[in-house]
Amino acid sequence: MPRGLTARRSADSPTAAEHAGAPALERRVLCTGGMTRRLGAVVTLLLSACGQGIAQLEGDTPPEADALASTAQELISCAARSETGYENGRAFAITVVTVDGKPAERATANAYALMQAAALRDGVRLSVVSGFRSMSEQRYLYACYVNCACNNCNLAASPGYSNHQSGEALDLNTGAAGVYGWLTRNAARFGFYRTVPSEDWHWEFLGPSPGPGPCDAGGGATPVVRFDNLEAGGWYTNGLWMRVQASSAVRFVTYTSDGFTLGASEHRDDGFSARYVFSGLGDRTIVATAFDADRKQLGVAQVKVKVTAGDTQRGSLDFESPADGGWFENGIWLKVNTRGPVARVRYSAGGFALGESTDAAGQFPVRATFTTLGWRVITAVAVDARGVEVARRSTVVRLTP
Ligand SMILES: [Zn+2]
Repeated sequence: MPRGLTARRSADSPTAAEHAGAPALERRVLCTGGMTRRLGAVVTLLLSACGQGIAQLEGDTPPEADALASTAQELISCAARSETGYENGRAFAITVVTVDGKPAERATANAYALMQAAALRDGVRLSVVSGFRSMSEQRYLYACYVNCACNNCNLAASPGYSNHQSGEALDLNTGAAGVYGWLTRNAARFGFYRTVPSEDWHWEFLGPSPGPGPCDAGGGATPVVRFDNLEAGGWYTNGLWMRVQASSAVRFVTYTSDGFTLGASEHRDDGFSARYVFSGLGDRTIVATAFDADRKQLGVAQVKVKVTAGDTQRGSLDFESPADGGWFENGIWLKVNTRGPVARVRYSAGGFALGESTDAAGQFPVRATFTTLGWRVITAVAVDARGVEVARRSTVVRLTP
């Protein structure tokens, strides 16, 4: 929990105004108004005395909007290191991890990761332009301001008084399309508030925590995937939908139970969702495994739930070919074994229809040839004579030349 959080949250409705209200603004005017650049030592001392007020003006450089968006997007490393943070000039130990390639305090990074995943589901790409700053970095920026010799002569909070040093502040890519609007509508849900009136890129994590993040609890394993619709111990009717939040490096997610593949999806838009109808009810441990484009495993989430009678199990479907996880030459036969009132089976990959078959005796065969190779999630949907879905299943395969 970030320092000062409890006090700041004591009011029912923490808003930006609470942190950037009139008193602070007045102090700011007192501290900076009428001063010219290249001030003497006496005025520098005055500036230091005004440090707390100046903290309301972080003096950040407006971020270059898209410089990092594509390269460092969503690189979260939970490898933690200890740093010295500062709040109101007081030093304290702070734990720093890396997000979007930038250092950030761990609780801030966890909340940000959840916010970033939510934004991605809305088609908005958030990235961190500047996160935690060490004392030496803030001294540099402050000296730039005082001497007007670097960093565009931008105003900078005095060393020890920037909330980039307390670990709460992140400068985000608000110059990128859709980012600022999304943040104004959603950031508060994740504990982030815009706190500096003149800096629309500067957001601070004031809490509360929006939930477990990828770097929680020890900071070792990095689950870049978490269940979105299933909670541990929850009861769910059969015909279970599984859905996750996953970081942007994730290309597809597989779902298993006791090592048995339940399904897979490469559709970020719908939370990589997959549906499975269990033949037996009761306790089930569902494991979601997230992979990148090269099928490198990025993260795992698991949840134990109780599957109860609900949807009538009208049909079931298993892939006869291709076998899950296998390597196949391009031009493959797709075949399934079905039970129940299955009239036809439709196949698709990545949202593209591959064909459909009504040939039950031939195991609903369809031959598919792909224009690009590599890992593919192939989904088969079985429908009854009225076209109502009765079962679906996915398999993940690798296509080779
Ligand atoms: Zn900032």
